[in-house]
Amino acid sequence: MARKGRCRCGEMLRFEKGPQGYKMRCPGCGSVVRLRVDGGKRVHRPATLQCPCGAVLVIGGVKSATCPCCQKTLLVPIEPKSTGD
Ligand SMILES: [Zn+2]
Ligand SMILES: [Zn+2]
Repeated sequence: MARKGRCRCGEMLRFEKGPQGYKMRCPGCGSVVRLRVDGGKRVHRPATLQCPCGAVLVIGGVKSATCPCCQKTLLVPIEPKSTGD
């Protein structure tokens, strides 16, 4: 299934799904563009966060989580990502 996406240079690209997802080289600027697909069905390993009390929380797509053991609210560190625009 092909999807449309836009490169940061403004070029409209048509992505074909490959083994590594929607990824291709922009003919306009030559940079490799990866299309983000919403609602991915395939979930990677769930991210976990360890509370200072020792409990390990499973977090998924949330910015904060409450520890079930000590009720402490933990902020989920956000990985730096290079985003377009
Ligand atoms: Zn481009
Ligand atoms: Zn805790």
